[in-house]
Amino acid sequence: MYNRKILAPLAALALASTSVMAQQSGLKRTNLQQHDISIPGREAVQVRIDFGPGVLAPSHKHPGEEIIYVLEGTLEYQLEGKPAVTLKAGDVLFVPAGIFHSARNIGTTNAAELATYVVEKGKPLVVLQH
Ligand code: MN
Repeated sequence: MYNRKILAPLAALALASTSVMAQQSGLKRTNLQQHDISIPGREAVQVRIDFGPGVLAPSHKHPGEEIIYVLEGTLEYQLEGKPAVTLKAGDVLFVPAGIFHSARNIGTTNAAELATYVVEKGKPLVVLQH
């Protein structure tokens, strides 16, 4: 009983801190799979990210590449130094390593993307710009 009371909140905190964005309202990150790959020191991570209507994923970067497939809705992406692009279900986007970018659901329904990362192991997956 004692252990459960102490450990449950700690476990929840650990889970939340693995993804800064998981705590932001209207954004839901669902971890799907994570594996070592043939490149030493790197891993593949696959996440489904759901955005409520109007919700912004603020500017951030990753320690490797992000390969995006839009599952539903309409998302506007902004990569540093590039014009914004509007993508719909079935569209794809490649985000080079270390490039700051943001995404916003500009539609009136849920939007979702499948994000596949090829990143350095042992580093935070998401690093916010500020
Ligand atoms: Mn990203």
